[in-house]
Amino acid sequence: MTQALGVRFRCQRGCTACCNQKGWVYLTEEDAQKAARFLRLTVEDFKAKYVVQGKNFLRLRKPVDRQCPFLEPQGCSIHPAKPTQCRLFPFWPELLEDRSRWEATAIFCPGIGRGPLIQIGTALEMAQEMKRAYPEQYDEV
Ligand code: SF4
Ligand code: SF4
Repeated sequence: MTQALGVRFRCQRGCTACCNQKGWVYLTEEDAQKAARFLRLTVEDFKAKYVVQGKNFLRLRKPVDRQCPFLEPQGCSIHPAKPTQCRLFPFWPELLEDRSRWEATAIFCPGIGRGPLIQIGTALEMAQEMKRAYPEQYDEV
């Protein structure tokens, strides 16, 4: 466990560091529906334009020039409807449960170590939400 009592975290205004990290942005079916609604697209059109559909996953297409199609210089262009993994970062099981990965994340995420103390139970609940949202990636199936 990363911290016995909890962790301090507050996302920092103007920062997009996590959106610039290498890695896929996975979506749940509900995430796709929410983002499509936000962009006033049908789910089919949203998927055709922005999503790669695998056997057990949906992920955003990665443009050649950046990590995510919705990453703009001023931030996330679908912020109110961003995917679950974006909303829950950095409270991902693989980070919260591994001190060295948490500390490596804190190197690029200036929100870690700042802001209010998030009780460990609350942090773990967010990690559980990740597991529920992406069961295939956490061997929860
Ligand atoms: S890297 Fe951390 S502070 Fe920056 S946008 Fe992501 S969560 Fe917020
Ligand atoms: S969807 Fe938004 S929050 Fe998620 S990686 Fe893309 S720009 Fe960042």
